[in-house]
Amino acid sequence: MIEIATNKQVDVIDITSCIEKALQNSALKSGICLVYTLHTTTGIIINEAESGLIQDLTILMAKMVPKDAGYEHNKIDSNAHSHLRAVLTGNSVVIPVENRKLVLGTWQKILFLEFDGPRKRRISVKIVSE
Ligand code: ZN
Repeated sequence: MIEIATNKQVDVIDITSCIEKALQNSALKSGICLVYTLHTTTGIIINEAESGLIQDLTILMAKMVPKDAGYEHNKIDSNAHSHLRAVLTGNSVVIPVENRKLVLGTWQKILFLEFDGPRKRRISVKIVSE
């Protein structure tokens, strides 16, 4: 289990090095690595960690799922938009592992998406041998 602290209401954090560290501590040589968030208002994706693109992603989410649009969930909570954004991005990724290394393309990073921060968040990492 990995714990991270997000810093903003909407935040994108590159967690690739955290996952690589978890991998180095395991005995596994090759297989798959599951990275899974334990929260309903966060997402995990694989994409480029370029600052302009991260800004574009934040803007896209705000356009697709605006903050106050008469959501039912807001009758009991105030964060329906955060849940809905998380639904769109998904809550896990699976990455191949070869020779104790994540198989990622040049620009691929594992990005943790916070939609209801800032908070402490937990991420489960499971490594399964081939
Ligand atoms: Zn809620």
